[in-house]
Amino acid sequence: MNQFLIKPRVQFGANALDYLSQVSARHAFIVTDKAMVKFGLADEVTRRLSQRGIAFSIYDDVAPDPDISAIVNGMKIMDMHYPDLVIALGGGSVIDAAKAVIYSLWHTRKDVNRAKPQFIAIPTTSGTGSEVTAFSVIKSQSEKLVLVDEFMLPDVAILDPVLVKSVPASITADTGMDVLCHALEAYVSRTASDFSDALAEKAVQLVFGYLIDCHREGSNVFAREKMHNASCIAGMAFTNASLGITHSLAHALGGVFHVPHGRANALLMAQVVAFNADLEGHCDTEAAKRYASLAKNLSLPSSSVREGVESLIVAINVLKDEMNMPKGIQATGVSEIDFNTRLGEMVGQALRDSCTPTNPRDVNEKQLETLYRNAF
Ligand code: NAD
Repeated sequence: MNQFLIKPRVQFGANALDYLSQVSARHAFIVTDKAMVKFGLADEVTRRLSQRGIAFSIYDDVAPDPDISAIVNGMKIMDMHYPDLVIALGGGSVIDAAKAVIYSLWHTRKDVNRAKPQFIAIPTTSGTGSEVTAFSVIKSQSEKLVLVDEFMLPDVAILDPVLVKSVPASITADTGMDVLCHALEAYVSRTASDFSDALAEKAVQLVFGYLIDCHREGSNVFAREKMHNASCIAGMAFTNASLGITHSLAHALGGVFHVPHGRANALLMAQVVAFNADLEGHCDTEAAKRYASLAKNLSLPSSSVREGVESLIVAINVLKDEMNMPKGIQATGVSEIDFNTRLGEMVGQALRDSCTPTNPRDVNEKQLETLYRNAF
C-alpha cells in the first residue's frame, strides 16, 4: 500500500509573514538563532504577535548543525513557558531544533494529556525544505542522526521571500545546491512515485532557472521567491520519496568536518549521479534513464541516455562553478591527513545512514570510500 502525505498549510509569496496577523494564541515560543535577531527578522515576527496580544519568549541559542545539548536546553526553556504556539524562524538548523524539542518534550513528559502546541515553521534559507518534512537532523558527537516522525511536521509553513534577501551569496549557493540534491535524489529514489516525481521535476527546473539570479543579486525578490518555492516543493518530494547516498555521504562529512550541509551535497552530487547511472559501465540503469529524462526536461543534449546523464553532470558542475563553489573537499579546508584519518569513520556512518537504503543502486564500503576519495 502506497502513501503520499502533504501536511502543512503553505502560505507563500511576498507578505506571507502577515499570516501571523491571523493567528491566535496565549504564549508563543520562538526558536531561532542570533543571526535572525541581528538581521531584525525576529522583530518582524514579534511585532506581529504583539499586535495580536500574544505573549512570547525567544530561544535563540541554536547554532548551525544543532546538537543534543541545543535540544536539551530548548526543552528546559520551552517547558518553563508552557506555550500553545511554537514558531521556528531560521534555516534548517533552527527548524530541525524546534522539531526535536517539540518531539522530545511531548514524548518524555508525564502529563501526556497536555495538547501539542500549534507549530509554525518560517524558513529563512531556501534549502532544506524542513518546513514540510518529517525529518530532523541532530548531531550527536560527530555523527548526524536523522530523526523521522510525522509528529514533527509543522501545521503551517510560511514562505516569505523577503526573509531570504539577507542570505549571503555563499550560503545561497550551498542551500540552493541542497534543493537540487533533494530533487535529484527523490527523483531516482527506490520509493519515488508519480506524486514525488512531479514535485521533483518542478523543483529541478526552478533551481536551474533561478538559483544563479539569487546568487548574483540577493535582493531579487522574484528569483528568491522561486527558489523558496523550489526548496519547499523539493521538501514535499523527499519527505515522501526519501533520499540517497549523496545525503548519506554529506551527513557524515558534515558531522565529522563541519562542512555546511548544502556544500557537502554539492561536493558529492555529480560523483553520485555518475555512480548511480553506472557511467563507467553500460549506463543503462533505471536511475540513468531518469537522469536523462531530467536532462531532456531542461533542454540539455540528451539524444541517448549516456548523453543525457553526461549533460546533467556538466550542468551541475557549471552551476557550482558559476557560484564559485569549492571544487573538492580539500578546498573546504579539510587536510589530506585529517581526511585519511577519519575516512573509515565517515564510510561507516554513510553506510548505516537512513538515506542509504533508498539509493537506487546498492553500495558497499569500498564504493563509498571511492566516492569520498574522488570528491576529495
Ligand atoms: P542553517 O540553518 O545551518 O543556516 C546556515 C547559516 O545561515 C546560519 O549561520 C544562519 O544563521 C544563517 N542564516 C539563515 N537564514 C539567514 C538569513 N535570512 N539571512 C542571513 N543569514 C541567515 O543552514 P540550512 O542549510 O538551512 O540548514 C542546514 C541543516 O538542516 C543541517 O543540519 C542539515 O543536516 C539539516 N537538514 C534538514 C533537513 C530536514 O528535512 N529536516 C533536510 C536537509 C538538511
